[in-house]
Amino acid sequence: MKKILMLGTGGTIASEKSPDGLTPELTPEQLLRAVPAIRTICEVDCLSLFSIDSTNITPAHWIDIARALRENYDSYDGFVISHGTDTMAYTAAALSYLVRGAKKPIILTGAQKPIGFDSTDSKTNLIDAFVCACSEKLHGVCIVFSGRVILGTRARKTFSKSFTAFSSINYPELAHLHDHRLLVFIEPDYLPAPVFCETLDEQVGLIKMIPGMDEALMDFLLARKDALVVECFGVGGLPNYADGKLFDTVARHTAAGRFLVMTTQVQNEGSDLAVYEVGHKLKSNPRVLEAYDMTSEAALAKIMWILGQTQNVQEVSCLFYTPVSHDILYRG
Ligand code: ASP
Repeated sequence: MKKILMLGTGGTIASEKSPDGLTPELTPEQLLRAVPAIRTICEVDCLSLFSIDSTNITPAHWIDIARALRENYDSYDGFVISHGTDTMAYTAAALSYLVRGAKKPIILTGAQKPIGFDSTDSKTNLIDAFVCACSEKLHGVCIVFSGRVILGTRARKTFSKSFTAFSSINYPELAHLHDHRLLVFIEPDYLPAPVFCETLDEQVGLIKMIPGMDEALMDFLLARKDALVVECFGVGGLPNYADGKLFDTVARHTAAGRFLVMTTQVQNEGSDLAVYEVGHKLKSNPRVLEAYDMTSEAALAKIMWILGQTQNVQEVSCLFYTPVSHDILYRG
């Protein structure tokens, strides 16, 4: 039997009712006891890392998870991380960079309804997650949810209440599960040995463009951050009204060493700054990077990971456009 390590972090799956609303209470051992079928699939050890609503996740928690994976990597065949759904896509993206190229499956799962509720998706998702963690065909960080297997760099929570909470953005789903039987369509790549990293630059912000955006907000953020992810409209660009003040703001802060990552607030198909004049003129600035078909979650985690290693403009650009776990396919 395969040996799987389950890492508990909290979330709805482990929550119980309290007078103030749902709050994570259950340990991974208690979750397992509620689903005895898992013990027939594999041997499981448990590690409770923390027990929080994933609204409270910070990059420090991602590093804690990455460290636990490094410390236990050689002793197990695969890993299941139970996690809140709200920020699971961010954690999945971050872990894809912090634990690069793992051959062993690192499966994140959770639920929209707590395990103790009559109507819950917890049990199905947990069994599916363990089936995937035992698979020889799935590698690295994936989200397993509602019978779908989604690459960690490509996941997004797209439904706030339905059981089908996650979608795979600009990339096909890797596999499906029907009655806990796994059908793998795409086998992800892996490296001969995983590369672990435990450093992130947390000084990264994200701003969503709105019509009438004034430069003061961007100026405020860029003055305080090492990099800013900008969710533009459509294929991307910056408004050039008000005498192009937004462009001046970008020029000033990038000259002072900051980075901009241009992405789009449109969920599907990604950015292409070269298309319109409002985007094209940013292309010549080496400190303006373009996310293309990456998710915002992955772009944010990737720039945190890169700036944790280097601030050198050529190295940053080279790392950003080098695919990690199929995070970027289209590059202009
Ligand atoms: N607020 C919860 C969390 O992210 C939602 C969930 O787990 O579904 O921890």
